Amino acid sequence: SVAIEIQNINKKYGDLEALKDINLTINRGEFFGLLGPNGAGKSTLIGILGGLVNKDFGRITVLGKDIISNYRETKKSLGIVPQEVTFDPYFNVRETLEIQSGYFGIKNNDEKINELLKALDLTDKAEIGPRQLSGGMKRRLLIAKALVHNPEIIVLDEPTAGVDVELRNSLWDYVIKLNSQGKTIILTTHYLEEAETLCDRIAIMNKGEIVKIDTKENLINSI
Ligand code: ADP
Ligand code: ADP
Repeated sequence: SVAIEIQNINKKYGDLEALKDINLTINRGEFFGLLGPNGAGKSTLIGILGGLVNKDFGRITVLGKDIISNYRETKKSLGIVPQEVTFDPYFNVRETLEIQSGYFGIKNNDEKINELLKALDLTDKAEIGPRQLSGGMKRRLLIAKALVHNPEIIVLDEPTAGVDVELRNSLWDYVIKLNSQGKTIILTTHYLEEAETLCDRIAIMNKGEIVKIDTKENLINSI
């Protein structure tokens, strides 16, 4: 069945056409890659999906529901890990995750929060404030924050940009595990290697367009 259906999405910033008529269907359980250079439009597309950027035209459904008319419901199905790291400095790691759970109306989420802290190796940082976290820890907290409500579909926007090899590998292992548990994963990246290693199917974006979309195997054979 279909996880996300993107139909005729267009977006302009002034005269710049950031997205030109994007059509894309992502199936449930897929590990899908959006591969393209900086400026291709990947973040804009993810921003529209997450309701942070307004589209000019087009329609997106998540698990069959229109994201505009079912905003709250579709938000619950999505866990979006943005590129930009922003945390409220007044709350420690655990509180950050508790507050995020609250946005989804989840009152006692200790079990999930502890599971995420453990999986992302943040347990001994739970009482520390964001200012004292290293870059890699912040990135892991960002992932935990996107997963507190146990979403069906997980979107990671350039999760390993500027991340060292060791952390990159542990993040990869973790998303592979989530995918094997049945979660749909969408990953944007400008690293061919990352898309090749992780993704079942890859859309190559450039200048606001999908220039190619195929399984990893077919794409590699066509190069
Ligand atoms: P990617 O994520 O693939 O690097 P983006 O979606 O960030 O691509 O950007 C696509 C294009 O839109 C780029 O040319 C970028 O400079 C432009 N752009 C992105 N956000 C804005 C914005 N808020 N205002 C103006 N132009 C923007
Ligand atoms: P509301 O829908 O109640 O107006 P907003 O969309 O303005 O809430 O979100 C307020 C804050 O809640 C944001 O800063 C964000 O951190 C958090 N938030 C709400 N929903 C989500 C979500 N689905 N994913 C991530 N953060 C969310």
